Amino acid sequence: MSEIPIKRIAIFGSTGSIGTQALDVIAANPDKFSAEVLTAHSNDELLIQQALKFNPNVVVIGDESRYAKVKQALASTDVKVFAGEKSLEEVAAMDCYDLMLAAIVGYAGLRPTLKAISHGKAIALANKETLVVAGDIIMRKAVENKVPVIPVDSEHSAIFQCLVGETRNRIEKIILTASGGPFLGRKPNYLVNVKREHALQHPNWTMGAKITIDSATLMNKGLEMIEAKWLFNMKPEQIQVVIHAQSIIHSMVQFEDGSIKAQMGLPDMKLPIQYALAFPRRIKNDFPRYDFKKINNLSFEEPDIKTFRNLALAQEALHKGGNLPCVMNAANEIAVYAFLKNRINFLDMTDAIEKTMQNIPFIEKPTLEEYFDSDGEARNFAADLIKL
Ligand code: NAD
Ligand code: MG
Repeated sequence: MSEIPIKRIAIFGSTGSIGTQALDVIAANPDKFSAEVLTAHSNDELLIQQALKFNPNVVVIGDESRYAKVKQALASTDVKVFAGEKSLEEVAAMDCYDLMLAAIVGYAGLRPTLKAISHGKAIALANKETLVVAGDIIMRKAVENKVPVIPVDSEHSAIFQCLVGETRNRIEKIILTASGGPFLGRKPNYLVNVKREHALQHPNWTMGAKITIDSATLMNKGLEMIEAKWLFNMKPEQIQVVIHAQSIIHSMVQFEDGSIKAQMGLPDMKLPIQYALAFPRRIKNDFPRYDFKKINNLSFEEPDIKTFRNLALAQEALHKGGNLPCVMNAANEIAVYAFLKNRINFLDMTDAIEKTMQNIPFIEKPTLEEYFDSDGEARNFAADLIKL
């Protein structure tokens, strides 16, 4: 067998939950991957440590006030240091890497990912908000530039894995599993009092703060329905959500003959990260294995969208399309931020998102500029509502 060249990886958001786990995967496979770009928003200490360990070509620190510190700490190396939001796009266009792991959280990940696609870079996509905001444009540009978009989100990785070898076969529906988060089975009279610390305790996954809150409100599953629509070219009616509290089945595909394929394993993001980096190969590893004897009771139930209204709002956005998912995403980012700062309570998040969705003018086929504008308008509207 001929030797496979080392894949040069750019991790946008290297200091986050996905980013650090991706670096663990790279460190375990130095013959397969090298980390060539690392970026962080404000965690300069960790970025410096990562740069000293992995010796990338370039690092970017988003917060410009931290540039001098990073530059000085790396003075004895030949790592290039950039700072500021614009640099993310400049670096995304560089020749020094082959594949971008898009692991920035939220809308901030959109522009660098677009830039990488326009430069023909393969994308391993963790940042689901990118597809929620402008999925039509992202997927169209990916096709135009012959760029693969490989999902990292565990549900979408599961579906992607189920679809290998099935290119000619029609999908009847995809079934996204959801753990239900820490408040599964709870009702609004309970949710009204839950605090930040409680919402940040996810039963099955350890993740960044924003996605952990989104998992508690079920907005995360709503974002994932929209993500699935674009990744797999599905109609909204073909996407179903089922609560599966154990997070062992990561999602399923039902084909037109009724057969259902599922991808299973313990909840561990390193597996979908490794799969996306190495695709189409699988790599041997020592991650803990699922044991039927230990977890032998898998359950499935309908989501309670009357209580977890964010999921109902996301379903509305999924069906209506246009700029509504973008508006919803922007309002959600503002609401989650306000909740994390203890400025609003758990259920207020839904009210702010709903009112923003009702008030920002609908655009059926937005241009990229119109998505940017809708995002800005929705943020301002939601922030005014919450009085941030
Ligand atoms: P995180 O908060 O742990 O990390 C976010 C990263 O983005 C950090 O490196 C941070 O420095 C960077 N960042 C934050 N704001 C930025 C900005 N304005 N500009 C530039 N960089 C910025 O988040 P995470 O949990 O790793 O999630 C990252 C993305 O992956 C999210 O879109 C999330 O939905 C998705 N995802 C995460 C998981 C998970 O297990 N953590 C699972 C599935 C999908
Ligand atoms: Mg997920």
